[in-house]
Amino acid sequence: MKITCPRSSCQNQVYFQKDGHFFRKSDSKYIQRYRCRLCGKRTSTAQLSACYGQKKRTLNKMVESLLCSKVSQRRIAKILNIDKKTVHRKVIFLGIIASGKNQKFRDSLTSNKVHSIQIDDMITKERTKLKPVTISSAVDPKTRKILALEAAAIPAFGHLSKISIEKYGKRRSQQNKSLTNLFEKLLPITSETAIIRSDEHKYYPIYIKKYLPRSKHQQFKSLKAKTAGQGELKKSASDPLYSINHTFGMMRDNLGTLVRQSWCVPQKIEMIQHRLEIYINFHNSNLV
Ligand SMILES: [Zn+2]
Repeated sequence: MKITCPRSSCQNQVYFQKDGHFFRKSDSKYIQRYRCRLCGKRTSTAQLSACYGQKKRTLNKMVESLLCSKVSQRRIAKILNIDKKTVHRKVIFLGIIASGKNQKFRDSLTSNKVHSIQIDDMITKERTKLKPVTISSAVDPKTRKILALEAAAIPAFGHLSKISIEKYGKRRSQQNKSLTNLFEKLLPITSETAIIRSDEHKYYPIYIKKYLPRSKHQQFKSLKAKTAGQGELKKSASDPLYSINHTFGMMRDNLGTLVRQSWCVPQKIEMIQHRLEIYINFHNSNLV
């Protein structure tokens, strides 16, 4: 990114003169100031940073680590002595930054494509259990890296379905959108003849046929959970979908919003997606 003159009628990106510096209190750094040689307006290199305008930029890394370590937003605010609204804003900021990094990671795989993938969906909620959300996921079992996670609204099921319709009206399934997004992200990074493993979800064969027709799709029956309510870890010693189930287990343990019966309840689906992007980046860069 280049320095641009802040005057909207000028937009000069070339002719600048050094014009002193200023001390930025938030991270104790000296920032170079410039003066536009065409219109005289002053600017600085501070505008080039993604954190431009943030007063607590030094806490970004810490907020990211705590978010991926089962700490609630209110507790993060308490621990770091900042306002909970600051934490909320940081979740959005970190989510956007992480999303860019995750795309870069996927771009790096286009030259060295993935040969096997495990896909699955996990269920969570926004606001209430009457508004469930599905997270379509893809993992590379060889490296254990998460390739993509896509959250989408789905209608309530089981005995909650009737109550949900009475209280909130009909909730349309957005799963087509999340699966389309997932496969569009997978298409450029997956080898044509890749092996794709999944459970017996009815939508997967349709999407695999559409996006990766030459790949080999293996479907497995869902195994019994080791403990009731902990569906991620299976009773059987050899789980063919171990990689993705283990990743789900880790996500359920490390993301406060995904912990079962947790008090951390996201209010909007967009916030779930931000947290997921932050988690993908954190998980992939901290694998041993
Ligand atoms: Zn100018």
